[in-house]
Amino acid sequence: MEIEAAREVRTTCPYCGVGCGVLAKVAADGQVSVRGDPDHPANFGRLCSKGSALAETIDLDGRLLHPEIHGRRTGWNEALDLVASTFSQTIAEHGPDAVAFYVSGQLLTEDYYLANKLMKGFVGSANIDTNSRLCMASSVAGHRRAFGSDTVPGSYEDLELADLVVLVGSNLAWCHPVLYQRIAAAREKRPEMKIVLVDPRRTMTSDIAYMHLAIAPDGDVALFTGLLAWLGQHNALDRAYITAHTTGFGQALFAASALDLAAVAAATGLSEDELGRFYGLFAATAKTVTVYSQGVNQSSSGTDKVNAIVNCHLATGRIGKPGTGPFSVTGQPNAMGGREVGGMANMLAAHMEIENAEHRDRVRRFWSAPDIAQKPGLKAVEMFQGVADGRIKALWIMATNPVDSMPDADAVEAAIKACPFVVVSDVLASTDTVRHAHVRLPATAWGEKDGTVTNSERRISRQRSFLAAPGEARPDWWIIAEVARRMGFAEAFAHETPAQIFGEHAALSGFENDGGRDFDIGAYAGVDAVSYASLEPFQWPAPERAVQAEPPPEPVASTERHPIRFFASGHFYTADRKARFIAIRPITETRTTPDFPLVLNTGRIRDHWHTMTRTGKSPRLSQHIAEPFVEIHPADAQHHGIGDADIVRVSSPRGDVLVRALITPRQRQGGVFAPMHWTDQFAAKGRLDALTAPLVDPVSGQPALKHVAAHIERFAAK
Ligand code: SF4
Repeated sequence: MEIEAAREVRTTCPYCGVGCGVLAKVAADGQVSVRGDPDHPANFGRLCSKGSALAETIDLDGRLLHPEIHGRRTGWNEALDLVASTFSQTIAEHGPDAVAFYVSGQLLTEDYYLANKLMKGFVGSANIDTNSRLCMASSVAGHRRAFGSDTVPGSYEDLELADLVVLVGSNLAWCHPVLYQRIAAAREKRPEMKIVLVDPRRTMTSDIAYMHLAIAPDGDVALFTGLLAWLGQHNALDRAYITAHTTGFGQALFAASALDLAAVAAATGLSEDELGRFYGLFAATAKTVTVYSQGVNQSSSGTDKVNAIVNCHLATGRIGKPGTGPFSVTGQPNAMGGREVGGMANMLAAHMEIENAEHRDRVRRFWSAPDIAQKPGLKAVEMFQGVADGRIKALWIMATNPVDSMPDADAVEAAIKACPFVVVSDVLASTDTVRHAHVRLPATAWGEKDGTVTNSERRISRQRSFLAAPGEARPDWWIIAEVARRMGFAEAFAHETPAQIFGEHAALSGFENDGGRDFDIGAYAGVDAVSYASLEPFQWPAPERAVQAEPPPEPVASTERHPIRFFASGHFYTADRKARFIAIRPITETRTTPDFPLVLNTGRIRDHWHTMTRTGKSPRLSQHIAEPFVEIHPADAQHHGIGDADIVRVSSPRGDVLVRALITPRQRQGGVFAPMHWTDQFAAKGRLDALTAPLVDPVSGQPALKHVAAHIERFAAK
């Protein structure tokens, strides 16, 4: 008998926003193996530990395989009918704002697009928000304030070309490992390249750092506002660029000048000598990229932090040129794709703005929608507060686990439990969120579903299926379309394939786009099944050669290797085409109290992801760090009578967890760090977000998950 040759499928990693290409092979006996795709421009064959272990995480253990109503197995028709009729009835009785969708950066762009279309265009509410609100909303808000659009101006290649890479609030070595590997490899080739790490902790990323600035929590606004003032005082500005391409410089510099070096030192906890050396290095290095991540975004001043960084790049003209730019890296695999389709409560599809009447009208006409949401909806934290106070009466949660991951998680769980109607579409049967659903809808997982994702450098790549859908699991886009049809919107949701949805999404991006919007992949409008199947990774805007009136006769293929940099000649998406400086005054905020004297910083570790629903399946990944821990500075440990490996109770005014003490001088004195992955399912008492507060950045609505007042005490000796 002839044995069928193993198939190898080109797909994309479902973890972080680096967006690495993966070659997945299914052997004749059904065994799956993965390796990095050598031709994918994000990773050129590399994979990190999580990506390499993907094959170990795709078994069917714990999977939700059939629709359920109140825990009873049912068929798709009954479940979908109930979801559609309950949402329709709730809207009829209480109005469109009485329903909400809470979605996820794990969804594919096609799923995200349909969910957004249904809620904003056909329900008529903007109550759709995403767990990406917890990850990069401050970057979106900062980009829009400065550039008039949510545009990441550079590409990964710029990090390799830079002579100075400033990493702010980013443990790239663990959280975006392949990007870190690319920088480390570039530095090997060019030892003159310097890395500066700005982080309260000396993380693994500091191993390649020329300088580590152990900044005080939330000292970043002062650091970069102080840098702007310093650049002005030391004649290190690009006056020609400022004049030609920006507005608001005078006000921004005036606001920054209120801070002298001593004040910056006090606000950042850094010495004047450290500040002077960093500022001098920044001023002297034309090719500088500033990479920032959750340490910047997850803050009550996250948007100001972003704009303080962007201000320094605009003031030196270091944007839109090779090896320069402010560069935000996204946490999730499709946080960027969600931004493109307007999967946030304050955005419309194709990077249009919900508060812009012209944009609303354009999207409404394109969709032939009966109505369109007229105002922003509830952002993530507000949404669950709306559930708690009864404004939201029907909630659909897709592909995420807010009972463990939202700030003030106990209050979120109580709200979900009290909500009259909760639908969860998920891969798993028993997350802490799925347990509370009235209706459970089984979704297909990575390896079983087809669609696209966009990474941190605006590169769109295909996720492709290589496994059959198990049980009755269905793709998220299919579930959304079926509910929409049952709500009476059959014509607008007649899609039968993800290719059709992608083609519509692409057409909207180019629809009446006169250059006033950055996001444009209109060349892919109406892409056919064959072209979609062979779609190569490409950056938006679509390469010029692909722009044509008719769908390309050949499979849409981009051999694009030269990354697209935005704003090379100024052309920002503001009315006057100039970038805006934002005048920022740092605010010093003390959240600690005598009862909760330490600052708790939350984050990721190298080998786990989110609430471990996938990585928890791999023994190899759990070997790296096997249990939850808290990093404590030796002086703080001594003060609290805690020894290394003791069990420690970490508490805040909202709750507590039990974790292992890891005493290390890598941690800044006065602060502690604990990873957010473990839940009560994986630890004795492990839901870290039961401690965090629903405090948000006032502009972006992103929660301040990096700055929580906390107390530690020894619970038990090791
Ligand atoms: Fe996946 Fe991110 Fe690792 Fe790449 S760096 S393999 S995208 S987890």
